[in-house]
Amino acid sequence: MSILPSPTKSNSEYRPRENDWRLFSRLIPYGRRHGKLLALSMFLLVPIAVASAIKPLLVGQAISLIRQEPNTYQFLQNMPLWQGLNILIGMLLIATSVRLILTGVQGYLVQKLGQKITAAIREDLFHHVTSLSVRFFDSTPVGKLITRLTSDVESLGDVFSTGAVGIISDLLSMIVIVGLMFSIQSQLASLLVLILIPVTWLIIYFQQQYRDANYKTREELSGLNSQLQENIIGINVVQLFRREKFNAELFRVTNQNYVKQVDNSIWYDSAVSATLEWVGLVAIAGVLWLGSGLLLERQISFGILSAFILYAQQFFEPLRNFAEKFTVIQSGFTAIERVVNILEEPIEIKDYPQPESTRVDFELGYINEIVARLESQEFTPIPTLGEIKFENVYFAYKNDDYVIKNLNFTIHPGEKIALVGPTGAGKSSIIRLLCRLYEPTQGRILIDGVDIRKIPQIELRRYMSVILQEAFLFAGDVKSNITLGDNYSFAEIQQAAEKTNVATFINQLPHGYDTQLRERATNLSSGQKQLLAFARAAIRNPQILVLDEATASLDVGTEALVQEALNKLLIKRTSIIIAHRLSTIRNVDQIFVLKRGELIEQGSHEELLQQQGFYATLHNLQMLKA
Ligand code: ADP
Repeated sequence: MSILPSPTKSNSEYRPRENDWRLFSRLIPYGRRHGKLLALSMFLLVPIAVASAIKPLLVGQAISLIRQEPNTYQFLQNMPLWQGLNILIGMLLIATSVRLILTGVQGYLVQKLGQKITAAIREDLFHHVTSLSVRFFDSTPVGKLITRLTSDVESLGDVFSTGAVGIISDLLSMIVIVGLMFSIQSQLASLLVLILIPVTWLIIYFQQQYRDANYKTREELSGLNSQLQENIIGINVVQLFRREKFNAELFRVTNQNYVKQVDNSIWYDSAVSATLEWVGLVAIAGVLWLGSGLLLERQISFGILSAFILYAQQFFEPLRNFAEKFTVIQSGFTAIERVVNILEEPIEIKDYPQPESTRVDFELGYINEIVARLESQEFTPIPTLGEIKFENVYFAYKNDDYVIKNLNFTIHPGEKIALVGPTGAGKSSIIRLLCRLYEPTQGRILIDGVDIRKIPQIELRRYMSVILQEAFLFAGDVKSNITLGDNYSFAEIQQAAEKTNVATFINQLPHGYDTQLRERATNLSSGQKQLLAFARAAIRNPQILVLDEATASLDVGTEALVQEALNKLLIKRTSIIIAHRLSTIRNVDQIFVLKRGELIEQGSHEELLQQQGFYATLHNLQMLKA
């Protein structure tokens, strides 16, 4: 388990730096999937490094050759000057061309690799995020998640492509240069290597500062995105309540904080560039100082001095690139840290490994249902299935703040139950527990005698359908919004639509079942959306049907249609209905009255009225209003 508190839950100030290697190792499996591409782009680094390191050596040789100095290679000394020079120029040309072509090819391969890795991680993240429990989403703003799935993943890909591979290339260049320098003249070579040590230390220091600044920048960016997203989703409320100015002011503050953090990280980034600029000059001065002394003592030739002046320039070039890539890697690591935090977020609600027997029992029930359905060619449930039992259920969203307390009840197959009670009494929480969006803190919930934790989620969700107050529709056509990706024939879709009185409306749409709905279906009224949600439930022929204020947002005309559809849909199905308007639930078999998470009354409408308790008071109040 990660010791790092998830940034979604912690404040960004407290952030022990994770072991970079551990973070990097999370990427290795992704790199390995494209091993050939990775190996090829690594292999190309060798000729590139040699081709660039050899240039000062060739220039030095040319000068020595012209000046007829003793350190000129033997084979050059043995030929006419013009021929020797031509050979050196030819070699320089070859080295430059090799470098030019291979750098292009290598750069392309590395970017391709980066994109492949990024795509794979994005997929895994999407899969993981959609499997996380609702509790996780309660505490994580959507904008934050979107930042992680987009810009964080993007800079994470850079770690591999520009970063890791690039750094190896720079290291290789430096090693080759050091080797060549020592082969030419060890004192000057040692001088340059000595300068390298404090500079490297300084750069590492600036880089660490940069990394911290960058983490904060990204946190600010997430905040910025969350705020943007909230305002776009809630644009109706923003405009209706004239919150534009107020929200703009809030946004201005977040925006400024973001800019401040960006400035901070740029400062450290610039410090690295400035250090390297400065060190390049110092190195040339150092070479001139030591080199001219050696030259006067005739220990080295002009050719060697020239080669080293070029090396002094070129030697720190990889370090500069190294530092630049380090910057990319640093921000990449920040991104990996954030992405890994999500990837390692435990999936709270999982299918339990279960003894075969219970599984088989349940599956048998389910399979029987399917067989019966196929035989009857009808959307009817099995009368003996669909029992729901709550046993000593306690539940808290946070710590010990119980919103459901010691709940015990049984709903028999085919029974219709209404949950009533004031807002916040825990009605929706009961439904969420039943669907296993959350787990009870204590106690258990049984369906047909099986603990729901032992029922595979896929079966549990098929076994029961929930219709919420606001139907959520996806971008796509009407058909796919009813099937939701499951395999149903067109005839089945039509049948479900007819059954739920939505067929007439669908047929009036410009392209019928193929009409494209916009994202969140803004081109439909809430009544129409709700009817589609009913068809979505009907086609699944669930054994248990849950309606959470499902008819509350409907206009009178649509409600009559829906009520009729509902009456058909509810036949023989165990159903739980949450309703505020008590007039809509008179016909149910039993009414459960909840108050502050406890079941305080239970019985039919008439029985409860006779009891003269809480329900009777609620009922009389509503009658008065009506
Ligand atoms: P009802 O459906 O009866 O109006 P809920 O089940 O929605 O009531 O809520 C019961 C209590 O749980 C309320 O006090 C509410 O504030 C709290 N609650 C609901 N959802 C959450 C959540 N996601 N996180 C924390 N508390 C919640």
